[in-house]
Amino acid sequence: MNIDAALLRAVSPKTGAQFSVRFHLWLGRMRHRHSGAMDIRAWRVPGYRISPYGLLLGYESDGDIIGSSLASILRGKATIGCYSGGASHREFKAFWPRYVKHGLCAFDVSHGWDTKKNFRVCRWCGVEQRLRSRIERRVVQHWEAA
Ligand SMILES: [Zn+2]
Repeated sequence: MNIDAALLRAVSPKTGAQFSVRFHLWLGRMRHRHSGAMDIRAWRVPGYRISPYGLLLGYESDGDIIGSSLASILRGKATIGCYSGGASHREFKAFWPRYVKHGLCAFDVSHGWDTKKNFRVCRWCGVEQRLRSRIERRVVQHWEAA
């Protein structure tokens, strides 16, 4: 995905709470650093499931990946490094469509809940839920002496 002004606007935390401030800053840093079209893609780290720890964000250069792990980006402690042997990393093409549509929780459907009594809000994507109670009537069959 080319990191251009339109993309930066689309995934800005000002657009929605589901977008990470730190990821947005990192994208801006990558763009500034290379002043021009940047093809930032997501790559799966071999042996990891799809999660912030299992994804590298960066661009390919001579068979290596220049970038950062998504987890380090989200912690705000990302250094931009060179991951050699990029060919062993498979691209995770669903990253951008998922991120643009759902924000961070597209990769962790369990969310990161902050709960207060019967109300909770996800600290990542901002989705809110209220705990509801309902009374259900059920028919239970069992055998007993006739
Ligand atoms: Zn969430």
